[in-house]
Formats: sequence, C-alpha cells, structure tokens
Amino acid sequence: MLMILRQQQVRRLAVFSIATVILNLAAIRYLVRDDLETVNLAALKGHKIIIDAGHGGIDSGASQNGVVEKDVNLAIARKLGRVLEDNGSGVSFTREDDIDYYTRGKGGKRSDLMKRVEMINAAGAEVFVSIHVNAIRQTELKGAQVFYNPQKASSKVLAETMQRALKDFPPGNKRQAKQDLGILLLNATTIPGVLVETGYVTNKEEAVRLADPVYQQKLAEQIARALAYHFSQNAGR
Ligand SMILES: [Zn+2]
Repeated sequence: MLMILRQQQVRRLAVFSIATVILNLAAIRYLVRDDLETVNLAALKGHKIIIDAGHGGIDSGASQNGVVEKDVNLAIARKLGRVLEDNGSGVSFTREDDIDYYTRGKGGKRSDLMKRVEMINAAGAEVFVSIHVNAIRQTELKGAQVFYNPQKASSKVLAETMQRALKDFPPGNKRQAKQDLGILLLNATTIPGVLVETGYVTNKEEAVRLADPVYQQKLAEQIARALAYHFSQNAGR
C-alpha cells in the first residue's frame, strides 16, 4: 500500500515537472520570438507612406543580365503599395508609370531627383521608401541593402528594422543598413525615409530573382512588415 502511494506520488511529481518545463519553454519562446516576424500588419492602418520607384522613362537605371532596373523598381513599388493599401495605409507614389522628370539639357538628372524630393516633401506622408536595384563590377556580390541619412534618427531606426526584415533576400543576406550622406533623395527630403537597394542585377542569380514576380511580392511584403513594426514601435511618439 505504501509502495503504491509512493509510485503514484512519483508519477504525479514527474508529470508536474514535465508540465513546468514545457510551460517555461513556451514562455521563453514567447519572450525571445522575433517581433518583426510576428507583427500584425494592422499596425499599418491609418499611416501615410509615399513610395518612390527609382528611375523611369528615359532613365533605365542599371541594366544587366536582361533585367532593367526601372521596371523592377516599379513592379516592387506597385506590389508594396498594394500590400500597404490592403492593410489600411494611405499610399502615394512619385511615379506609377514608366515616366521620368528629366528636364532638357544639363542637370536633367538632378531636376528629376528634385521633383521626386518635392513630391515626397509635399505628400503629407510620415515616411518614404525609395526602391532601387544595385549594380557593381564584382558579379559575385549580392543582397538587399537599406540606405539612410544619419542626420535623421528616425530614418536610421527604420533602416535597421528594414534591413532585418530583408535578411532572407537572398537567404543568408548579411548586409547591414548603411548610412550615406551622398544620396540627394535622402539629403533633401524633410520626412524620414529609406532607400532600399533590393539586390544586385550584376549577380546572375539575383537578377533572376529580382525579375521574378513572386520574389518581388515577398520583398514588398517584408518592406511592409518593417513599416508595420516601425509604426507599432513608434506609436504615440
Ligand atoms: Zn537606382
């Protein structure tokens, strides 16, 4: 009799211990989960964002491996706009078609950029996202990278969040958000924002990815996720 009781007690104790361990593991898992990956996209609701698809019209941007930058930029920008709108954000664009803002003669590129800056500053948006693809002589280089102006604290925070969101573009992407004082669009804009180089068209593999609508959609969704996280963290500030 005594023996049986003890066995029951041991069994109860064992069950209790296992349950405790499982509960603790669940709690730890909850605490260390990546908030960025689990953020509710509903956090986008009511926020206003302006999207800049880099280049366009007479300015193709970088072209390599059969991929033309201006087209990829516009495709991703449109997809991003759709995700944001579907989640209740107000969205505007510097361009929604294959157009440019070049003026004739010298300084055409600068006037194109200044027109975009003007639109970004006048949009009444909280943040801007400029979409580009990168090119470099070293064809082995790849990976999405986010650029920001270090003079704007909020841009840096957003850039670092967005870079984290793009760690799988492509898988194993180790690039870090990078400050850059030499980008006119980042310098002359008055609202926080980032410039996303979504990948390298000079890398054959990545060029194929960048031209793939499924990859573009995933990129757009992760950029939207980063914005949702940014707004959820900065609410009421
Ligand atoms: Zn570009």
